[in-house]
Amino acid sequence: MDIYVLLKRTFDTEEKIVVSDGRIEDESAEYIINPYDEYSVEEAIKQRDELGGEVTIVTVGDEEAEKQLRTGLAMGADKAVLINTEDDLEDGDQYSTAKILQIYFEDKEADLILGGNVAIDEASGQVGPRLAEALGINYVTTITALEIDGDTAKIDKDVEGDVEKIETSLPLLVTCQQGLNEPRYPSLPGIMKAKKKPLEELEIDDLDLDEDDVEAKTETIEVFLPPEKEAGRVLEGEIDDQVKELISLLKDDAKLL
Ligand SMILES: Cc1cc2nc3c(=O)[nH]c(=O)nc-3n(C[C@H](O)[C@H](O)[C@H](O)COP(=O)(O)OP(=O)(O)OC[C@H]3O[C@@H](n4cnc5c(N)ncnc54)[C@H](O)[C@@H]3O)c2cc1C
Repeated sequence: MDIYVLLKRTFDTEEKIVVSDGRIEDESAEYIINPYDEYSVEEAIKQRDELGGEVTIVTVGDEEAEKQLRTGLAMGADKAVLINTEDDLEDGDQYSTAKILQIYFEDKEADLILGGNVAIDEASGQVGPRLAEALGINYVTTITALEIDGDTAKIDKDVEGDVEKIETSLPLLVTCQQGLNEPRYPSLPGIMKAKKKPLEELEIDDLDLDEDDVEAKTETIEVFLPPEKEAGRVLEGEIDDQVKELISLLKDDAKLL
Protein backbone atom coordinates (compact mmCIF):
# COMPACT_ATOMS: atom_id res chain seq x y z
CA MET A 1 0.00 0.00 0.00
CA ASP A 2 1.28 3.42 -0.94
CA ILE A 3 -0.18 5.64 1.75
CA TYR A 4 0.14 9.43 1.80
CA VAL A 5 -0.75 11.97 4.46
CA LEU A 6 -1.47 15.63 3.68
CA LEU A 7 -0.12 17.59 6.60
CA LYS A 8 -0.54 21.29 7.26
CA ARG A 9 1.51 23.34 9.69
CA THR A 10 -0.92 25.67 11.46
CA PHE A 11 -0.75 28.15 14.28
CA ASP A 12 -1.99 26.92 17.63
CA THR A 13 -5.42 28.42 18.26
CA GLU A 14 -5.08 27.64 22.00
CA GLU A 15 -2.18 30.12 22.22
CA LYS A 16 -2.30 33.90 22.00
CA ILE A 17 -2.69 35.17 18.45
CA VAL A 18 -1.71 38.71 17.53
CA VAL A 19 -3.30 40.32 14.47
CA SER A 20 -1.83 43.50 13.05
CA ASP A 21 -2.44 45.18 9.69
CA GLY A 22 -5.04 42.54 8.89
CA ARG A 23 -2.52 39.67 9.21
CA ILE A 24 -1.59 37.20 11.90
CA GLU A 25 1.88 37.99 13.23
CA ASP A 26 4.03 34.96 12.53
CA GLU A 27 6.60 35.75 15.20
CA SER A 28 4.12 35.71 18.08
CA ALA A 29 2.25 32.54 17.05
CA GLU A 30 3.04 28.98 18.15
CA TYR A 31 2.99 26.44 15.33
CA ILE A 32 1.78 22.84 15.46
CA ILE A 33 0.62 20.01 13.19
CA ASN A 34 -3.00 20.69 12.30
CA PRO A 35 -4.71 18.47 14.95
CA TYR A 36 -6.90 16.69 12.38
CA ASP A 37 -3.72 15.74 10.50
CA GLU A 38 -2.50 13.92 13.61
CA TYR A 39 -5.46 11.55 13.15
CA SER A 40 -4.32 11.08 9.53
CA VAL A 41 -0.74 10.25 10.52
CA GLU A 42 -1.96 7.79 13.17
CA GLU A 43 -4.40 6.10 10.79
CA ALA A 44 -1.79 5.88 8.02
CA ILE A 45 0.66 4.17 10.39
CA LYS A 46 -2.02 1.74 11.63
CA GLN A 47 -3.10 0.80 8.09
CA ARG A 48 0.52 0.33 7.01
CA ASP A 49 1.28 -1.88 10.02
CA GLU A 50 -1.73 -4.02 9.15
CA LEU A 51 -1.50 -4.10 5.36
CA GLY A 52 2.18 -3.38 4.65
CA GLY A 53 3.60 -0.63 2.47
CA GLU A 54 4.89 2.83 3.18
CA VAL A 55 3.64 6.12 4.63
CA THR A 56 4.76 9.41 3.08
CA ILE A 57 3.79 12.76 4.59
CA VAL A 58 3.47 15.71 2.21
CA THR A 59 3.33 19.39 3.13
CA VAL A 60 3.03 22.50 1.00
CA GLY A 61 4.68 25.25 2.99
CA ASP A 62 8.03 26.69 3.89
CA GLU A 63 11.13 25.36 5.56
CA GLU A 64 9.67 26.00 9.03
CA ALA A 65 7.32 23.06 8.37
CA GLU A 66 10.28 20.67 8.62
CA LYS A 67 9.71 20.52 12.39
CA GLN A 68 6.13 19.24 11.99
CA LEU A 69 7.24 16.78 9.28
CA ARG A 70 9.94 15.40 11.61
CA THR A 71 7.27 14.96 14.30
CA GLY A 72 5.19 12.92 11.84
CA LEU A 73 8.27 10.83 11.05
CA ALA A 74 8.89 10.37 14.78
CA MET A 75 5.32 9.10 15.18
CA GLY A 76 6.19 6.38 12.65
CA ALA A 77 5.80 7.63 9.05
CA ASP A 78 8.51 6.43 6.65
CA LYS A 79 9.23 9.49 4.48
CA ALA A 80 8.36 13.15 4.22
CA VAL A 81 8.16 15.60 1.36
CA LEU A 82 8.23 19.36 1.75
CA ILE A 83 7.03 21.29 -1.28
CA ASN A 84 8.64 24.59 -0.45
CA THR A 85 6.88 27.57 -2.04
CA GLU A 86 8.73 30.24 -0.06
CA ASP A 87 11.01 31.55 -2.83
CA ASP A 88 8.57 31.25 -5.73
CA LEU A 89 5.11 32.23 -4.54
CA GLU A 90 4.02 35.09 -2.37
CA ASP A 91 0.36 34.31 -2.03
CA GLY A 92 -1.78 31.25 -2.35
CA ASP A 93 -5.15 29.86 -1.40
CA GLN A 94 -6.92 26.50 -1.32
CA TYR A 95 -6.82 26.36 -5.13
CA SER A 96 -3.02 26.91 -5.14
CA THR A 97 -2.40 24.26 -2.49
CA ALA A 98 -4.65 21.67 -4.14
CA LYS A 99 -3.14 22.38 -7.59
CA ILE A 100 0.42 21.94 -6.29
CA LEU A 101 -0.59 18.67 -4.61
CA GLN A 102 -2.39 17.50 -7.76
CA ILE A 103 0.76 17.89 -9.85
CA TYR A 104 2.84 16.21 -7.12
CA PHE A 105 0.48 13.19 -7.09
CA GLU A 106 0.05 12.87 -10.84
CA ASP A 107 2.99 10.49 -11.28
CA LYS A 108 2.46 8.67 -7.96
CA GLU A 109 0.48 5.48 -7.50
CA ALA A 110 -1.22 6.42 -4.25
CA ASP A 111 -3.62 3.79 -2.92
CA LEU A 112 -4.75 5.88 0.01
CA ILE A 113 -4.42 9.61 0.74
CA LEU A 114 -5.41 10.88 4.20
CA GLY A 115 -5.98 14.52 5.05
CA GLY A 116 -7.60 16.42 7.88
CA ASN A 117 -11.27 17.27 7.93
CA VAL A 118 -10.34 20.96 8.19
CA ALA A 119 -7.31 23.02 9.06
CA ILE A 120 -7.96 24.80 12.36
CA ASP A 121 -6.66 28.11 11.05
CA GLU A 122 -8.48 28.76 7.77
CA ALA A 123 -10.91 25.87 8.17
CA SER A 124 -12.27 25.71 4.63
CA GLY A 125 -12.12 21.90 4.41
CA GLN A 126 -11.44 22.29 0.70
CA VAL A 127 -7.98 20.94 0.05
CA GLY A 128 -8.79 17.21 0.33
CA PRO A 129 -11.95 17.19 -1.82
CA ARG A 130 -10.38 19.53 -4.41
CA LEU A 131 -7.37 17.24 -4.71
CA ALA A 132 -9.47 14.08 -5.06
CA GLU A 133 -11.64 15.72 -7.72
CA ALA A 134 -8.55 16.85 -9.64
CA LEU A 135 -7.03 13.36 -9.45
CA GLY A 136 -10.35 11.75 -10.37
CA ILE A 137 -10.37 9.39 -7.36
CA ASN A 138 -13.04 8.49 -4.80
CA TYR A 139 -13.18 10.52 -1.60
CA VAL A 140 -15.05 10.45 1.69
CA THR A 141 -14.86 13.28 4.21
CA THR A 142 -15.08 13.30 8.04
CA ILE A 143 -14.36 9.62 8.53
CA THR A 144 -14.39 8.00 11.99
CA ALA A 145 -13.56 4.38 11.01
CA LEU A 146 -11.67 2.80 8.11
CA GLU A 147 -11.33 -0.86 7.24
CA ILE A 148 -9.50 -1.88 4.07
CA ASP A 149 -9.75 -5.32 2.50
CA GLY A 150 -8.06 -5.64 -0.89
CA ASP A 151 -9.38 -2.80 -3.01
CA THR A 152 -12.46 -2.27 -0.86
CA ALA A 153 -12.76 0.28 1.92
CA LYS A 154 -15.51 0.20 4.53
CA ILE A 155 -15.94 3.56 6.15
CA ASP A 156 -17.90 5.21 8.95
CA LYS A 157 -18.55 8.84 8.11
CA ASP A 158 -19.59 11.32 10.77
CA VAL A 159 -22.67 13.22 9.67
CA GLU A 160 -23.24 15.84 12.34
CA GLY A 161 -23.21 13.21 15.12
CA ASP A 162 -24.87 10.43 13.10
CA VAL A 163 -22.93 7.71 11.29
CA GLU A 164 -23.18 6.94 7.59
CA LYS A 165 -21.78 3.54 6.50
CA ILE A 166 -20.01 3.73 3.15
CA GLU A 167 -18.33 1.10 1.01
CA THR A 168 -16.03 2.31 -1.73
CA SER A 169 -12.88 1.32 -3.60
CA LEU A 170 -9.23 2.34 -3.72
CA PRO A 171 -7.53 4.55 -4.79
CA LEU A 172 -9.20 6.72 -2.24
CA LEU A 173 -8.82 10.03 -0.42
CA VAL A 174 -10.33 10.42 3.04
CA THR A 175 -10.44 13.33 5.45
CA CYS A 176 -10.16 12.43 9.12
CA GLN A 177 -12.50 13.43 11.91
CA GLN A 178 -12.05 13.42 15.67
CA GLY A 179 -12.83 9.94 17.06
CA LEU A 180 -11.08 8.04 14.25
CA ASN A 181 -8.21 7.05 16.57
CA GLU A 182 -6.02 8.27 19.41
CA PRO A 183 -2.86 9.81 17.89
CA ARG A 184 0.29 8.51 19.56
CA TYR A 185 3.00 10.70 21.05
CA PRO A 186 6.39 10.28 19.38
CA SER A 187 8.60 8.01 21.50
CA LEU A 188 12.23 8.86 22.25
CA PRO A 189 13.54 6.12 19.90
CA GLY A 190 11.02 7.40 17.32
CA ILE A 191 12.45 10.92 17.63
CA MET A 192 16.01 9.59 17.21
CA LYS A 193 15.06 7.49 14.17
CA ALA A 194 13.15 10.38 12.59
CA LYS A 195 16.37 12.40 12.27
CA LYS A 196 17.65 9.85 9.75
CA LYS A 197 14.45 9.27 7.80
CA PRO A 198 14.29 10.77 4.28
CA LEU A 199 12.84 14.28 4.00
CA GLU A 200 12.75 15.36 0.37
CA GLU A 201 12.48 19.04 -0.47
CA LEU A 202 10.90 20.12 -3.75
CA GLU A 203 10.21 23.51 -5.25
CA ILE A 204 7.40 24.25 -7.66
CA ASP A 205 9.95 24.29 -10.52
CA ASP A 206 10.59 20.60 -9.80
CA LEU A 207 6.91 19.99 -10.48
CA ASP A 208 7.12 21.92 -13.77
CA LEU A 209 4.84 24.57 -12.35
CA ASP A 210 5.25 28.30 -12.43
CA GLU A 211 3.56 31.08 -10.49
CA ASP A 212 0.76 31.60 -13.04
CA ASP A 213 -0.33 27.95 -12.84
CA VAL A 214 -1.08 28.21 -9.13
CA GLU A 215 -2.11 31.82 -8.81
CA ALA A 216 -4.66 32.23 -6.00
CA LYS A 217 -8.31 32.46 -7.06
CA THR A 218 -9.31 34.31 -3.91
CA GLU A 219 -7.94 37.27 -1.98
CA THR A 220 -7.96 37.64 1.80
CA ILE A 221 -8.99 41.25 2.42
CA GLU A 222 -8.57 41.31 6.17
CA VAL A 223 -8.12 39.05 9.17
CA PHE A 224 -9.50 40.23 12.51
CA LEU A 225 -10.20 38.86 15.98
CA PRO A 226 -13.79 38.61 17.25
CA PRO A 227 -14.90 41.55 19.44
CA GLU A 228 -14.00 41.23 23.12
CA LYS A 229 -16.87 39.89 25.22
CA GLU A 230 -18.38 42.41 27.63
CA ALA A 231 -18.31 41.50 31.31
CA GLY A 232 -21.44 39.70 32.58
CA ARG A 233 -23.78 41.23 35.16
CA VAL A 234 -24.97 39.57 38.36
CA LEU A 235 -28.48 40.54 39.45
CA GLU A 236 -29.01 41.15 43.14
CA GLY A 237 -31.91 41.50 45.57
CA GLU A 238 -35.08 39.48 46.11
CA ILE A 239 -35.67 36.68 43.59
CA ASP A 240 -38.97 38.25 42.37
CA ASP A 241 -37.19 41.55 41.71
CA GLN A 242 -34.36 39.73 39.92
CA VAL A 243 -36.87 37.98 37.61
CA LYS A 244 -38.58 41.28 36.81
CA GLU A 245 -35.27 42.97 36.12
CA LEU A 246 -34.13 40.07 33.93
CA ILE A 247 -37.32 40.20 31.85
CA SER A 248 -37.00 43.93 31.39
CA LEU A 249 -33.33 43.58 30.38
CA LEU A 250 -34.19 40.86 27.86
CA LYS A 251 -37.03 42.99 26.46
CA ASP A 252 -35.63 46.49 26.46
CA ASP A 253 -31.84 46.11 26.31
CA ALA A 254 -31.26 42.84 24.45
CA LYS A 255 -34.55 43.07 22.50
CA LEU A 256 -34.85 39.28 22.70
CA LEU A 257 -38.46 39.13 23.93
C1 LIG B 1 2.08 29.68 -2.06
C2 LIG B 1 1.10 29.80 -0.98
C3 LIG B 1 1.06 30.99 -0.27
C4 LIG B 1 0.11 31.14 0.74
N1 LIG B 1 0.05 32.33 1.36
C5 LIG B 1 -0.84 32.53 2.33
C6 LIG B 1 -0.93 33.78 2.99
O1 LIG B 1 -0.22 34.72 2.65
N2 LIG B 1 -1.81 33.92 4.00
C7 LIG B 1 -2.60 32.89 4.36
O2 LIG B 1 -3.39 33.05 5.28
N3 LIG B 1 -2.57 31.68 3.76
C8 LIG B 1 -1.70 31.47 2.75
N4 LIG B 1 -1.64 30.25 2.13
C9 LIG B 1 -2.42 29.12 2.65
C10 LIG B 1 -3.75 28.93 2.01
O3 LIG B 1 -4.52 30.07 1.99
C11 LIG B 1 -4.57 27.88 2.79
O4 LIG B 1 -4.22 27.89 4.13
C12 LIG B 1 -4.35 26.47 2.33
O5 LIG B 1 -4.67 26.38 0.99
C13 LIG B 1 -5.22 25.45 3.10
O6 LIG B 1 -6.55 25.86 3.19
P1 LIG B 1 -7.30 25.66 4.57
O7 LIG B 1 -6.45 26.17 5.63
O8 LIG B 1 -8.67 26.17 4.41
O9 LIG B 1 -7.25 24.09 4.68
P2 LIG B 1 -8.39 23.00 4.70
O10 LIG B 1 -8.85 22.72 3.32
O11 LIG B 1 -9.37 23.30 5.77
O12 LIG B 1 -7.43 21.80 5.19
C14 LIG B 1 -7.90 20.47 5.23
C15 LIG B 1 -6.76 19.52 5.07
O13 LIG B 1 -6.12 19.72 3.81
C16 LIG B 1 -4.73 19.42 3.94
N5 LIG B 1 -3.94 20.64 3.72
C17 LIG B 1 -4.33 21.93 3.82
N6 LIG B 1 -3.30 22.73 3.56
C18 LIG B 1 -2.24 21.95 3.29
C19 LIG B 1 -0.88 22.20 2.97
N7 LIG B 1 -0.42 23.44 2.87
N8 LIG B 1 -0.05 21.15 2.77
C20 LIG B 1 -0.51 19.88 2.86
N9 LIG B 1 -1.80 19.58 3.17
C21 LIG B 1 -2.63 20.60 3.39
C22 LIG B 1 -4.52 18.93 5.39
O14 LIG B 1 -4.71 17.56 5.42
C23 LIG B 1 -5.66 19.64 6.11
O15 LIG B 1 -6.00 19.01 7.31
C24 LIG B 1 -0.75 30.05 1.09
C25 LIG B 1 -0.69 28.86 0.38
C26 LIG B 1 0.22 28.74 -0.66
C27 LIG B 1 0.27 27.46 -1.43
